Amino acid sequence: MPRHELLKLSQPNCIYCAGENLTVSTDHMPPRILFDAKLRPKGLEFGSCQSCQDSTRREELAVAMFSRIFPDAKTPKAQAESRKITKQTNRKFPGLFEEMYVDQLSVLNELGTGAGRLPTWNFVSCGGPIASSIIEAFAKKLSLALHFELTKEIVPRGSGIFMTHFTNYAAIVDGMPGDLMNALGKEKLLEMGRQSSADVFTYHSQRFDTEPTTIHMAYFRQSFALLMVVYPKFADVPAELLRGIMVH
Ligand SMILES: [Zn+2]
Repeated sequence: MPRHELLKLSQPNCIYCAGENLTVSTDHMPPRILFDAKLRPKGLEFGSCQSCQDSTRREELAVAMFSRIFPDAKTPKAQAESRKITKQTNRKFPGLFEEMYVDQLSVLNELGTGAGRLPTWNFVSCGGPIASSIIEAFAKKLSLALHFELTKEIVPRGSGIFMTHFTNYAAIVDGMPGDLMNALGKEKLLEMGRQSSADVFTYHSQRFDTEPTTIHMAYFRQSFALLMVVYPKFADVPAELLRGIMVH
């Protein structure tokens, strides 16, 4: 039986649209395009309807590019793939590259002696409107997937989803809050024989003390990280997060 047929049996309803549509295929989250030559270990595969599966195709391409910003691809093959993804992203998102350009000298001046601690001075900005909307759409889908993976429950409509992202620049300069890292628990990854996602993607997923809320952190190479909190009960969203919250 093909794998998507098996998934249909175990996840008959799409996990992304609150189970409103039936599963028609297997969705990989994070998607295969994030991995060199699309070689992705098995795991984190979800039952999805066609429209949810297609809904973030463009964004996934851009995220594949963001995730390759650091470190640089090592083999000529991976470098060529990276160039191809960059070119395609540029075509699909006019204005994105201009928005991402950062005046490196002004950033270095701002950092002062802190600049020496950075692994790269090749910063880009992911805070502009186009990059923000890409990351937001992608993080929403990823948070629905990771919540399901942890709880085996589909995130219901009306849930609140909080998301924030860290670039390598922000993570290293500001440091990740220690109590947050403790709350996130053990780091997880995808593994299949000798193949592992360690260099490309790792994540943490944990239930909050106040169930059914879940918290997730996902790292994409050394480029950026996403912190996501899923509140299936909207009333659990803290007042200070209400302004930036996404509603499912
Ligand atoms: Zn769906």
